[in-house]
Amino acid sequence: MSQAPTPEATGQDVPGDNPLAPEQVEAAVAAALAAFEQAGTTAELKQARIDHTGERSPLALANRAIGRLPGPERKEAGQRIGQARGRVSQALAAREDQVVAAELEARLAAEAVDVTLPVASIPIGAVHPITGLMDQMCDVFVGMGWEVAEGPELEAEWLNFDALNLPPDHPARSMADTLFVEPLDHQTLMRTHTSPVQIRTLLDREPPVYVVCPGKVYRADELDATHLPVFHQIEGLVVDKGITLAHLRGTLDHFARAMFGDIRTRMRPNYFPFTEPSAEIDLECFVCHGTSVGNPDAPCRTCSSEGWIEWGGCGVVNPRVLAACGIDSDVYSGFAFGMGIDRTLMFRNNATDLRDMVEGDVRFSRSLVGTAR
Ligand SMILES: [Zn+2]
Repeated sequence: MSQAPTPEATGQDVPGDNPLAPEQVEAAVAAALAAFEQAGTTAELKQARIDHTGERSPLALANRAIGRLPGPERKEAGQRIGQARGRVSQALAAREDQVVAAELEARLAAEAVDVTLPVASIPIGAVHPITGLMDQMCDVFVGMGWEVAEGPELEAEWLNFDALNLPPDHPARSMADTLFVEPLDHQTLMRTHTSPVQIRTLLDREPPVYVVCPGKVYRADELDATHLPVFHQIEGLVVDKGITLAHLRGTLDHFARAMFGDIRTRMRPNYFPFTEPSAEIDLECFVCHGTSVGNPDAPCRTCSSEGWIEWGGCGVVNPRVLAACGIDSDVYSGFAFGMGIDRTLMFRNNATDLRDMVEGDVRFSRSLVGTAR
């Protein structure tokens, strides 16, 4: 907008152009109000504010001109300008409120979300309880400084059987129990236990060895509630100087307490070709702690009221196994143990059907994930 020449600009007081004249002041106010009214956005309003209330606006220039008036006129001019500026400020503030509210309303309308619309829900998965339990088991041993060792699932027959002191006529080697892979003269099979990983470890490195070997194993079984053709084991192996059965017992006690709380373990003599002596390892029932034994009023589902749960096998490594791996059994000794992870999950979490483990239903995983991890 055009501005009236100011006294500073002209260097003289031109009566018709006196910025303090009532009609000039009134015109400046009217121009300001019109400009505010026209401004439809905060940006336009900001420009209108600079034009009509800024340092070079007519009313600001008029305000400065008051000082040059003789005393008696100064008061009246001061009141006029003061009132005019007050009206302009009020109009500006009111218009600012309107513009901001209108802009907010427009933005809300543009960004409106209809909360009644159906949403596309994408359910997230869950860690499989087997994986969770396997990780948890490995953590116990990693915490003691052991290593986690893994090996192939398609394995050489020698590593799966011969090196573990299972001779060619051992019944476990029959086609009824073991999944051999064609061509048969290549002597490869789907590993029937994780023990070949122990042999690979012993062949790969010098003692001392402290490893835990988790993984999938295969048997020629039908899939039913208590059998899986593919299941999971975890085995541990220690070979070092001066290792005895006592170290095995202490390790398994620690493992059992880490998994099930404050419970005891027991060993029952058994036979395995790759350990001597060998034992079954049982857990004290972590639910009834044996109180259900001979007590028909308080039966225990977890241990079938026997007080103990079979957990796995263990023993002192057979010197023949060490010899097969080139380790001097006069210098070194060791222990090994193994248990089924699926079976552990079953009695630990009261899962009753092994088929649930392989069907991939995320509801099964979610229901156990909190307890298995
Ligand atoms: Zn029990």
